[in-house]
Amino acid sequence: MAEIDVVVIGAGQAGLSSAYFLSRAGLDFVVLDRSPRPGGAWQFRWPSLTLGATHRVHDLPGLPMGVADTTRPSSEVVSEYFAAYERTFDLPMRRPVAVRAVREGEGGRLLVETTAGDWSARALVNATGTWDRPFWPRYPGQETFLGRQLHTADYVTREEFAGRHVVVVGAGASAVQLLMEIAEITTTTWVTRRPPVFREGPFDEGAARAAVARVDARVRAGLPPGSVVGATGYPMTPQVRAAMAAGVLDRLPMFDRIVPEGVVWDDAVGQRRLVTADVILWATGFRPVVTHLAPLRLREPGGGIRVEDTRAVLDPRVHLVGYGPSASTIGANRAGRTAVQHIRRLLGEPVAA
Ligand code: FAD
Repeated sequence: MAEIDVVVIGAGQAGLSSAYFLSRAGLDFVVLDRSPRPGGAWQFRWPSLTLGATHRVHDLPGLPMGVADTTRPSSEVVSEYFAAYERTFDLPMRRPVAVRAVREGEGGRLLVETTAGDWSARALVNATGTWDRPFWPRYPGQETFLGRQLHTADYVTREEFAGRHVVVVGAGASAVQLLMEIAEITTTTWVTRRPPVFREGPFDEGAARAAVARVDARVRAGLPPGSVVGATGYPMTPQVRAAMAAGVLDRLPMFDRIVPEGVVWDDAVGQRRLVTADVILWATGFRPVVTHLAPLRLREPGGGIRVEDTRAVLDPRVHLVGYGPSASTIGANRAGRTAVQHIRRLLGEPVAA
């Protein structure tokens, strides 16, 4: 078993930012990533997702991406950037290595059990993102549906849906983008729990800060975090205007149940409305990937892990970066620096104020 100061789990924006600051601090660490290649979750995102108007990946610390190519898939552009980043700073990457569990080790250390052996660490940065835990809401009759159900995480190309009626569920950016893209080649119905928000004008920094503060308060209280991205609404692009004019963005409230041939709304007087469908696309978001931390018993009765700054309140050796308020590319950058400051103090290193 290898002994080390710090294990970082995950090599997305959060893991790489943490690795950069750990490296600068001269700490002995390793980054374990279960993905096959550099790129974090970006490597798995669908080819039509580009770094266009709605997607902004902040530079990692110490190496700007340069002018992002907005014509090629972000899965390629970001993966190339992350690969260059790992090379430039000679980061100690190990992949593909999946962490199965983190548990109490000996002598106050953490035992990190993986598909490539065990590590014994004095501190841990958990930067595992959300991509591997797509959230599927449950609706009555869901298992009886005769068509195809898929989640954003499974989406590859709209061509798969040609000639089929697609129900898109969800009000976030992915839902809007996929809906507009699919509606160009086939018929769609849009269903959301809450009315979606479209914004005129520039990105609202105030709304973004308020969303981060709200999520921060939730994780400090040990509640499931909720999302910080998307709180500022979807920009009114020419494509959105065209989709609105074409009726593509006319949304229906959430249906009540699913039947073999489609989705159904029941009204108060016992009548029902059926939309027949071949496909239900659940663009319903993701949840934090933290099940491997279960042996540490960090979960609160409220269902989340209590986190202050980046530190798990119940175990200060454990830092969650890219979790809750830092689950954005800019938030992950800052959280990486904060986590490393805390870890240096924990390990007894002098840290400038
Ligand atoms: P990830 O990029 O998900 O990286 C986590 C890594 O951990 C992965 O490589 C994974 O394989 C690895 N891992 C997970 N579990 C284990 C394990 N047990 N053992 C080993 N390795 C493990 N944010 C923005 O700021 N701007 C955007 O434009 C933007 N666009 C988005 C578009 C989509 C479709 C989605 C879903 C999210 C978007 N986000 C965006 C949010 C975005 O996910 C985060 O900002 C950020 O990229 C997440 O980085 P991360 O490092 O936390 O996680």
